[in-house]
Amino acid sequence: TSPPRTRSPAMAAPKKKIAVMTSGGDSPGMNGVVRAVVRTAIHMDCDAYAVYEGYEGLVRGGNFIRKMEWHDVRGWLSEGGTLIGTARCMAFYERSGRLTAAKNMVLNGIDALIICGGDGSLTGADRFRSEWPSLLEELVTSGELSEDQVAPYQHLNIVGIVGSIDNDLSGTDATVGCYSALSRICEMVDYIEATASSHSRAFVIEVMGRHCGWLALLAGVATGADFVFIPERPQEHDWRKDMRLVVNRHRKLGKRKTIVIVAEGARDKDGNKIVPEEIKDLLADKAEGGLGLDTRITTLGHVQRGGTAVAYDRVLSTLQGVEAVHAVLEATPDTETCFIAMNENKIVRKPLMKAVQETKELAKAVDAKDFEKAMSLRDAEFADQYNSYITTTNVMIDDHKLPHKHRMKVGFINVGAPAGGMNAAVRAAVAYCISRGHEPIAIHNGFAGFARHHDDKPVGSVRPFDWLEVDGWASKGGSEIGTNRELPEESGMELIANLIEQYEFDALFIIGGFEAFHSVAQLRKHRDEYPSLCIPICLLPATISNNVPGTEYSLGSDTCLNELVSYCDKIKQSASATRRRVFVIETQGGRCGYVATLSGLSVGASAVYIPEEGISLSMLNADVNHLKEVFKNDRGQSRAGRLILVNEKASKVYDAKLIANIIREEAHDRFESRESIPGHVQQGGVPSPMDRCRAVRLAIKCIQHLEDFGCNAHNRVKKDPHSTSVIGIQGSEVVFTPVKALEEQGTDWPNRRPKAAHWLEVRDVVDMLGGRPDYPRPE
Ligand code: ATP
Repeated sequence: TSPPRTRSPAMAAPKKKIAVMTSGGDSPGMNGVVRAVVRTAIHMDCDAYAVYEGYEGLVRGGNFIRKMEWHDVRGWLSEGGTLIGTARCMAFYERSGRLTAAKNMVLNGIDALIICGGDGSLTGADRFRSEWPSLLEELVTSGELSEDQVAPYQHLNIVGIVGSIDNDLSGTDATVGCYSALSRICEMVDYIEATASSHSRAFVIEVMGRHCGWLALLAGVATGADFVFIPERPQEHDWRKDMRLVVNRHRKLGKRKTIVIVAEGARDKDGNKIVPEEIKDLLADKAEGGLGLDTRITTLGHVQRGGTAVAYDRVLSTLQGVEAVHAVLEATPDTETCFIAMNENKIVRKPLMKAVQETKELAKAVDAKDFEKAMSLRDAEFADQYNSYITTTNVMIDDHKLPHKHRMKVGFINVGAPAGGMNAAVRAAVAYCISRGHEPIAIHNGFAGFARHHDDKPVGSVRPFDWLEVDGWASKGGSEIGTNRELPEESGMELIANLIEQYEFDALFIIGGFEAFHSVAQLRKHRDEYPSLCIPICLLPATISNNVPGTEYSLGSDTCLNELVSYCDKIKQSASATRRRVFVIETQGGRCGYVATLSGLSVGASAVYIPEEGISLSMLNADVNHLKEVFKNDRGQSRAGRLILVNEKASKVYDAKLIANIIREEAHDRFESRESIPGHVQQGGVPSPMDRCRAVRLAIKCIQHLEDFGCNAHNRVKKDPHSTSVIGIQGSEVVFTPVKALEEQGTDWPNRRPKAAHWLEVRDVVDMLGGRPDYPRPE
């Protein structure tokens, strides 16, 4: 995703005019796409245009197609909806409408179009491109345009970006806006849960999704809902009976609230629509054998589209916008029309029409009640999440239990600082363990707590989980079982090994950050000395610093980014009265610049300082000069202040305060500068839905990985390096990597971070979009 810093000679020839448009339903993040496309195009020495009001603007032409300048998109990252407007355009369905659109494109000299919209918009785009030669021909034949006028525009170059809150396009894991909508839904469900629990009520919550149950399913997983209805996978049996059974079981366990989430397109196995009223009547049924619950319906409606984009959507929209411009510039007449997709953590170009066709096939499969096919057309994450949801709601059913000899006693430990998603991971893993007949045991307060258990206060530090208690943890922040930074060697390796033996643990599931990684490394190294350590151990990375080797993503890092984004948005706004102010914001992250960089990308920072690069006088000098320039040219277009993000360990000398002071001194009263330190706010309150959902999915995979080894596998454990593994997202895959390999090759031990920083290229995008000047980077 790294943009070349200048146009390469191969691209040097004709200067392109690249237009960007938003179409179909609006979604949070669309403004990020427009901003990224406009600025990247200008950076690449092209002209940038915006087509206002979707295809309607393209058909109408005139002032609907406007040239955009660098400063026109300032501050757009933090605005919700789409500032260039969107519309449903009937005219574009007709050839005559597309003919006029083609004429307007040629008259404005536009040779490439980047469209951000749903599958309808992208279908329209592909149709437009395939008809393009014939449209030009017709325009010439009818005399509306001359041969000379159309000559330079023989090939229309189109690139799609999927902007939709439904996450309904095949081929991409996420669409621009879906995680913002999910966040809004989860926020509402969290509110509703409080009142449901107070009154012991049931709530039926309807969410958007006519053909796609992604929002309903992930909201169900993130909030620990009791029952979910989605279009792709109706209940195999009578859903009425199934729901009554599950809700009844949960109530008998002692749950005081019942949450049912229903996608607006939900159907039963016979294709009949499932409406909230019917669900409500069933839950409220007072007849004998009925649940008789005090039940309310909440239809979330358009709030789901609203508000500003969450950090993930800002990152996604920005990186995809940048990639789209590159795709345009690299395309030849033979290049197939592509859209920009996201697979796990990797941005890729994919054929547009294949994805649109698969999406349509999926809708047809649902209509034809071919639900196997419908599920197979959704991505791997969707199927995983469906299984996660089934696992965590059907905990007490005996169907999936393993034979006794394969059932394990699994110790759960949290290590390091708390991170968003830790509790969701514990909850899911406990649920999975119970459903398989394993015995999940909580070890409280990390290795330190485990070791202290031996002293005078043994009560409570090692105890079986109580499902009713754990079930309420889906959306809780912090670490309910307690966490501690102490490493096993500090606690005493012999003591830890003895305790593992004493409790007869068959496996350990560890959740935490770099200390957790270090702990697993230590346990592995002492296996020869202590046979009790020859049990499978799996680490699920969780730290806001995102510095665990073996993964590009740690639980909690998304929550942290969201906290930083909302903090920076507020700070930026506070500067709007004075306008001429630079905030230097210090972020956490240890010696890893991930959160500083990604939050810099999400808020449009003017500069980011990270430990991987350090801070030099020449950098500060260049940045101060740049700021002077920016404020000199600012004619009041900017509605907010400027932000610089500095990681807490970027430099031993230049901290946020000193940098702010230097800037203030150099500004000679032409602008202001202040430092600001959000501190522990960054660990977040309620974890983000992404952290919660990924926690559930990855935690279940971890226990399955431990299951692969099973009980009494000492010999295999000793031989197989995968017996101490880190689960991680790497590029487009979820993988387990042996800790041994990471210790030896992948870890920068003195700096407590992975040797390779997968995100380092993003720094160039931040600089490019912030208009930061080039300066010599340290080696
Ligand atoms: P959402 O996911 O929010 O529904 P969408 O992009 O699928 O977004 P649509 O209303 O289906 O929304 O499409 C937006 C616009 O794209 C339409 O109003 C129309 O102008 C154009 N469009 C859609 N389908 C076609 C098509 N088959 N041919 C030509 N234009 C189309």
